[in-house]
Amino acid sequence: MIACCGLDCSKCECFLATQTDDDNMRADIAKKWSARYRADIKPEHINCEGCRSDGRKFFYCADMCELRKCCQEMELDNCAACDMYSTCDKLKHFCKIAPEAREALDKLRS
Ligand code: SF4
Ligand code: SF4
Repeated sequence: MIACCGLDCSKCECFLATQTDDDNMRADIAKKWSARYRADIKPEHINCEGCRSDGRKFFYCADMCELRKCCQEMELDNCAACDMYSTCDKLKHFCKIAPEAREALDKLRS
């Protein structure tokens, strides 16, 4: 369940709300994420079965995440499999805000 970027989708609240089909949780997450990401996120957007699944995805992860797009273009499972892992600015920038992603990717590389 490790996403292209290194986040663990199995721990993501959007994933958990989808798995439990919990509308109250969806409403809470939508409110929280709208404030956090300064975006208009509605409860109905809170549906995701994981970055690398074939199922439904949260729109940001599906269509906007540059790391996911890049992995797909290079046919990589995740950034840990990339030759530019240590030098990639996109990944560095993301890992500054999500250090847990770097930790998970480092583990995959070791
Ligand atoms: S792909 Fe889905 S489950 Fe994974 S981090 Fe993004 S929103 Fe969460
Ligand atoms: S170039 Fe960067 S974003 Fe693209 S796959 Fe490699 S590490 Fe990930």
